[in-house]
Amino acid sequence: MLTDVPPRKANRAGFLKSDRIRTIDLPADGRLPSIAELIKPAMTGETSGDVRRFCSEFLGVASEFYKVPNCTIRVLAARPLRVRERSTFELFGDYNPGTKVIRVWMRTAVRKEVTSFGTFVSTLCHEFCHHLDFQKFGFSDSWHTRGFYERAATLYHHARGTPLKKLFWIPMTGGRWRIDWQRTNRGV
Ligand SMILES: [Zn+2]
Repeated sequence: MLTDVPPRKANRAGFLKSDRIRTIDLPADGRLPSIAELIKPAMTGETSGDVRRFCSEFLGVASEFYKVPNCTIRVLAARPLRVRERSTFELFGDYNPGTKVIRVWMRTAVRKEVTSFGTFVSTLCHEFCHHLDFQKFGFSDSWHTRGFYERAATLYHHARGTPLKKLFWIPMTGGRWRIDWQRTNRGV
C-alpha cells in the first residue's frame, strides 16, 4: 500500500486532514460481519446476483450507521478494460463520487483469476471509505493517505471479525508513504 503524492496547493489542507484521521467509529452490533459472512458462499456460487444483494445490504447498513446517503453497488463478472487506476486497490473495484456508484468485480481482467473473499471484502470497504470521504468528511477529493488506509483497515477488520493491526509506515520520496509490512506483521 502506497499513499498518493500530496497535492501542492488548494487541496493540501484536506489531504493533511485525511492523513490525520486514523480511525473511524464502528457499529457496536455484529450486522456488518454477519452480512460479510454471507458474501463468501455467494462468491463461490459464481452468480453475481446474491453477491450484489449482500454487498448492497452491507453498504446500506454501513451508510445508515455513518449517516451518509446510500451508494449503489455494481458487481461485474470481470474487471473492465478501461479503469482509472489510482491505487493497487483499484485493481478490484472503483468508486464514482459523481454517481455514488461502487463497482467491484469478481475476476481480474488479465489472468482472469477469481478475486479472493478477503480481497473482495477489503475492496468493498476501501471503496466505501472513498464514499465516506466525500459524504461524511466532506473532502473535495478522496486521497489514499495513511489515514485513509487506516480507516479502511479499521472497517475491514470489523467486517471480518479479525484483530486490527497497527500499521507502520516508511517515508518515501515526494511525501509518500508505504506500509512497512515487516513491522506491521510483527506488531512492533
Ligand atoms: Zn482507492
